[in-house]
Amino acid sequence: MEKKKRIIAWMQGAVLLLLLCLLLVIPSAAEETETASEPLPKIRIGLYWGETELDGANLLNDVGSGYDFGYFDADNEFVALAHTEETAISMLKDWSLYYVGGQYTSEKPETEVPVVGCYHIRLDACESAETAAEAASVYEDGYIGYMDGVWYPFAGSYTSLEQAETAAAERGIPGTAMTGSNRCVTVVATKTQKVLFQYDCGTETTLGVMPCASETGERPITWFKGREYYGGFRYTRLNGGSLTVVNILDLDDYVCGVIPYEMSPSWPLEALKAQAVAARTYAMENMGRHRSYGFDLCGTVDCQAYLGVWKGAEVCEQAVRETSGECITYDGEYINAVYASSDGGATEDSEKVFQEVLPYLRGKIDPYESYVNTGYDSWEMIYTAEQITDILQSKGYRCSDIVSITPTYTKLGNIYSLKFTDSRGVNWTFSRERAGSILYSTKYDKSTKSQRFTVTDADGKQANAVYINSPETPVNGEESVYVLSGSGTVQALNTDGAVTVLSAAGRETISWNGSGETIRAQRYRFSGSGFGHNLGMSQYGAKAMAELGMNYKEILHFYYTGVEIG
Ligand SMILES: [Zn+2]
Repeated sequence: MEKKKRIIAWMQGAVLLLLLCLLLVIPSAAEETETASEPLPKIRIGLYWGETELDGANLLNDVGSGYDFGYFDADNEFVALAHTEETAISMLKDWSLYYVGGQYTSEKPETEVPVVGCYHIRLDACESAETAAEAASVYEDGYIGYMDGVWYPFAGSYTSLEQAETAAAERGIPGTAMTGSNRCVTVVATKTQKVLFQYDCGTETTLGVMPCASETGERPITWFKGREYYGGFRYTRLNGGSLTVVNILDLDDYVCGVIPYEMSPSWPLEALKAQAVAARTYAMENMGRHRSYGFDLCGTVDCQAYLGVWKGAEVCEQAVRETSGECITYDGEYINAVYASSDGGATEDSEKVFQEVLPYLRGKIDPYESYVNTGYDSWEMIYTAEQITDILQSKGYRCSDIVSITPTYTKLGNIYSLKFTDSRGVNWTFSRERAGSILYSTKYDKSTKSQRFTVTDADGKQANAVYINSPETPVNGEESVYVLSGSGTVQALNTDGAVTVLSAAGRETISWNGSGETIRAQRYRFSGSGFGHNLGMSQYGAKAMAELGMNYKEILHFYYTGVEIG
């Protein structure tokens, strides 16, 4: 009987559905697959942690109405436990904190200010949040807490256990004076000492706060420390310390928050789309980079610059939408999609920047970048020998006066190593990325800006370094470099052995694989182009390619060798 009813109901439903299909315009197949697609993965972005962890963190609804309290599960999905209608709340480590200058701090000021104490009166455990809230509502300073999975009604916040005990007795509250564990987080209404919620589940889970949608159903956007964010927040007292603040949001909302800080929203859409795919791939490849702090990536340039929502950057959202879910892979694996501002004319092989050989990071001459003004088309730095000595010594190298520099170059003409020789004849050699950054100095306010530079004496009188090709890798458009021997035979230079050349200045030894002359001078000229690490995509190059009419896939295929995009 039951079964029959169900079948009839199903049949009625099917007929209705058929009628609806006939009457209504059926959405296209493409739209259907879009709505049925997998939810985007969530990503955890560290905003404050380690040295920057906070005593208290304020939140303010921009678009939205109130917050849910709860925690994030192992899949970073939010589990709601309680709700507040307050639009301005502050999460505090459960210490005695004073509200001074717009934030809560442990330093007690001279003047009278709102203070949130870490001693509370706890009543008997309750079955649910509702019953706990009912029991707490008897007291004007009552609130609820979730401690190790159990609900409690609470009253008050005091700065000492004695105060809490006295208050409980005087107010006739049938509870116990206590303080939370060193993982406990207290939520208050900002600017006040009014406690809204307390969360203390040890090391199991930590407090999550999810802003709620506005009455009109708009997506919530929340102010935090002068910036606006999509998604929720998590507050963890790592090792019992202050608050590590993590923004947990959809991957594509994160990518939207990266693009405008890595590339100007005024740039062509195809360049922004290339940036979106590179940023998304970088995020996927580097998930869990900061797992020791409990998040995936940080919001600084250490990972990728991310500063929340950039309002009005619709073109960035379009770039993310039009590439949604697309990543760059090599052999089925996410690539390390590194990118830099400007390659200055050539990128470089990964092993000549860092040690690892990555087949998709192959250096190549960049014919596009020069179509746009990068601001780094050419730069020059003059260093005196004394300055170089001082810089090396200040970085802990116990050299005596530097008397000469011997640079070596890659086949693409980027710097590979710098050998500094001091007055005692000791060599101090820096290669790869280190060669490009060793002369960075805040004291002299100068630095080489990429790995694409050459070294001469200050007058430029000594010739630039000699580049030597291997037959399979043309340099400067030449297939190879040839020498004419004394006996008249012509021979191509190969990649092993050494060759001795006699220069007008004397006898200098040059190794085959791209070494340069030793330069002895009082002042050295470093002439280069580009800004950044010369690996992967040049952002200015992407801009140029887009302006030349190429699409984002062509841009990515140019800068990442042998990859797939999808
Ligand atoms: Zn980072």
